Amino acid sequence: MSAIDAFRHEPRIAYFSMEIALRNDIPTYAGGLGVLAGDTLRSAADLEVPLVAVTLVSTAGYFRQTLDDQGRQTEQPSAWEPALWAERLEAMVAVTIEGRGVWVGGWCYVVKGHMGGAQPVILLDTDIEQNSDEDRRITQTLYGGDNAYRLRQEIVLGIGGVRMLQALGFEVREYHMNEGHSALLGVELLRRYARPAEDLRPGESPYDIPRVRELCCFTTHTPVEAGHDRFSYDLVQRTLGDVIDLTTLKRLAGDDHLNMTRLALNLSEYINGVAKRHAEVSRHMFPGYRVHAVTNGVHPFTWTSASFRRLYDAKFPGWCHEPELLVRADCCMADTAIWEAHVEAKRALVDAVKERTGIMLQPDHLTIGFGRRMTAYKRPDLLFSDLGRLKNLAARHPIQLVVAGKAHPRDEPGKRLIETLHAHVKELAGVVTMAYLPGYDMDTALTMVAGVDVWLNTPLRPHEASGTSGMKAAFNGVPQLSVLDGWWVEGCIEGVTGWAIGDDIDAADGDAAALYQKLEQVVVPLYYQDRAGWIAVMKGTIAKSASFFNSHRMMRRYASETYVR
Ligand SMILES: *Cc1c(COP(=O)(O)O)cnc(C)c1O
Repeated sequence: MSAIDAFRHEPRIAYFSMEIALRNDIPTYAGGLGVLAGDTLRSAADLEVPLVAVTLVSTAGYFRQTLDDQGRQTEQPSAWEPALWAERLEAMVAVTIEGRGVWVGGWCYVVKGHMGGAQPVILLDTDIEQNSDEDRRITQTLYGGDNAYRLRQEIVLGIGGVRMLQALGFEVREYHMNEGHSALLGVELLRRYARPAEDLRPGESPYDIPRVRELCCFTTHTPVEAGHDRFSYDLVQRTLGDVIDLTTLKRLAGDDHLNMTRLALNLSEYINGVAKRHAEVSRHMFPGYRVHAVTNGVHPFTWTSASFRRLYDAKFPGWCHEPELLVRADCCMADTAIWEAHVEAKRALVDAVKERTGIMLQPDHLTIGFGRRMTAYKRPDLLFSDLGRLKNLAARHPIQLVVAGKAHPRDEPGKRLIETLHAHVKELAGVVTMAYLPGYDMDTALTMVAGVDVWLNTPLRPHEASGTSGMKAAFNGVPQLSVLDGWWVEGCIEGVTGWAIGDDIDAADGDAAALYQKLEQVVVPLYYQDRAGWIAVMKGTIAKSASFFNSHRMMRRYASETYVR
């Protein structure tokens, strides 16, 4: 009996994602999108919503980040061994790429919930003897290579994935495209349900678009235009061939380029953005489409540190299944219990920073955390825009910083930001202690969001579709100080769940001043002068943010509104 047999007895939702953060040791994710996909599966396992996930095996991972003392990033492969974690599939399917057949095999990994549930994940793999060396590398590197490599990967994911599910005998009731990378699955479905030529009147299209739309839903994840894959029709014709006629493809995916987002939009009956604000922005970007909002969430158990798990287990039994129970956290938890749980998490952070960087943080100093992909719109340097003001602030009350994040190998401005931050570390020496942890991953993220006192988030509006790390902080009673973008537009109750930087109307050039002002006048004084007031905010964060911004609520919404329509 193979691992996959346990999952074929009932119809499932096929969840397609280019990246999935299955666990910390499996480096098949680059950032927020993958972590969200992983949390989606973990919630589906806990809630027993039948999914089957499809992704690429990415045997060379994303990359391992090393930083020299000036913050120059270099990337090494982050290889992993699927055989240690997953079972090889017996089925193989073929896709056509550049006119030749490419074999696609794969692996079955099982996401095991901590409450007994499980979900299968199909990891597609072209590293098969029958394939040429070049084709064997198609599923190797996540977001690696050029546009042609990316298109080959997306053919394997979308077209190969649908064929693999069929070969494995899955009955699929709905296909969920997590971002546009997998939109070619719709093209494969058009082909599958096409009417034979002899049934057609002259000039009639064989494709049953309404039928395919009925089977598909699509979640868009970024308002950044460059985040949407586009391929020239030259490249598409060379690579994809005539899998579907060009006129139909252009009608569905755009006249000038094959735009994967357009394709997904046109082939999906249900479309959603990942926060209310993001859905509004997406409606402007894609007029004529009905874009719903299903605000993201994070997986309760995964993103809660040991000390807070113990606290919740004692106070709110069942919170892992029903995180809504945490809504009472502000009324029935002792201040000392919350503070002690936080001190324990902070000690773990201090130890980790010492071990990984040699830097000694002070456990009783206000600690600000910032961890995310290093890219321009996230503005990791906003806090440093006026070093004099930052030094003055630190002279009155000590503050220390813990920062982490990778830049995409081809994101030069992102890489320069890491160097800039390292230069600031030197300039601030002796005034503000700052540690940059290399190799941001799920474990580092949990240690940071739980161990700092405040989680900082400074994206340029409206570029942050949702953001999820602030939600992780909330499960650990750590309030967020953030620009009003993404989920924070919904989550921020000023002084109750954290604090806003600026408002959501004024131009962004006032954000730095607003950040300093909020730190100087509200956050720092509250931390040092009113501990009970501070703990009240910690409780507000748990009661009002964690109870709501979790992936169980998100999955229950997908299950009841998206998958069952
Ligand atoms: C949560 C997480 C992210 C996404 O954080 P954002 O706040 O959405 O930017 C990225 N990388 C890792 C490792 C994470 O755990």
